[in-house]
Amino acid sequence: MAKYGIVVDITRCNGCYNCFLACRDEFCGNDYPPYSLAQPNTGHFWMRIIERERGKFPKVKVAYTPLLCMQCENAPCISASLNGAVYRRPDGIVIIDPEKAVGQKQIVDSCPYRVIYWNEQKNIPQKCTFCAHLLDAGWKEPRCVEVCPAGALNFGDLEDPNSGVSQMIASNKTGVIHPEYELNEKVCYIGLPKRFIAGTVVFGDKDECAENVDITLTGDGVKKTIKTNNYGDFEFEGLEAEKEYSVKIEYPGYAPQEFIAQTKIDVYLGEIILT
Ligand code: SF4
Ligand code: SF4
Repeated sequence: MAKYGIVVDITRCNGCYNCFLACRDEFCGNDYPPYSLAQPNTGHFWMRIIERERGKFPKVKVAYTPLLCMQCENAPCISASLNGAVYRRPDGIVIIDPEKAVGQKQIVDSCPYRVIYWNEQKNIPQKCTFCAHLLDAGWKEPRCVEVCPAGALNFGDLEDPNSGVSQMIASNKTGVIHPEYELNEKVCYIGLPKRFIAGTVVFGDKDECAENVDITLTGDGVKKTIKTNNYGDFEFEGLEAEKEYSVKIEYPGYAPQEFIAQTKIDVYLGEIILT
């Protein structure tokens, strides 16, 4: 029996909202008993895109993180439900039974990822089902995965070592949003936003972008050297938060410079003028 999971590659997500719209298209106004009842037209985000602005002008990026039910193996929503109203299928998909869950508002509060929504009109909690009704009808993937134009959403069998998702996980580049919850989530991520340190180097005597300058980052057990690009820009991405790093800037014929940066937030060191 397959065990389904999704690997979200954040480095590919461009925030187009196709996944969100496909989810709305599939579920708004459509009942799929016993999997789910219709999603209301407003107020629910079974697939939600979290947008986080990073850095400060002129070095600004937006990180898009698609957030959906993590189909946890140790799911608190199952423990919080009465009469087996939330259950895990043999393929790992966690389903809220729309009949048994009537009136059970405590299920909404049980999810630490906050991905369960209360349907006021129908008096039930609701969430992403991985489109279980479609998978059972022979579909190979949920609607959101099918419409993603960027290849950011990858669906497959976690038990099959040859599946795309298993191979991504085997690459050791994946992680879950909240490992501290210890829920054994079946949705994991590549490229979860961490911290960056960036800057721009200029040759002061020529007033030109300083290309090919050696920039060495040291700290938190890391030491690496990169070169500035033809705009004089450099960036170290994927650094841990709340750490201290030294950034050394060296180019023959110019005085070296060193900066200390703390990654409480993303850091842009600004324009650094070599003299
Ligand atoms: S993410 Fe929330 S709703 Fe989904 S299985 Fe885990 S606890 Fe339940
Ligand atoms: S469809 Fe794909 S690229 Fe577009 S927002 Fe969703 S995950 Fe990101």
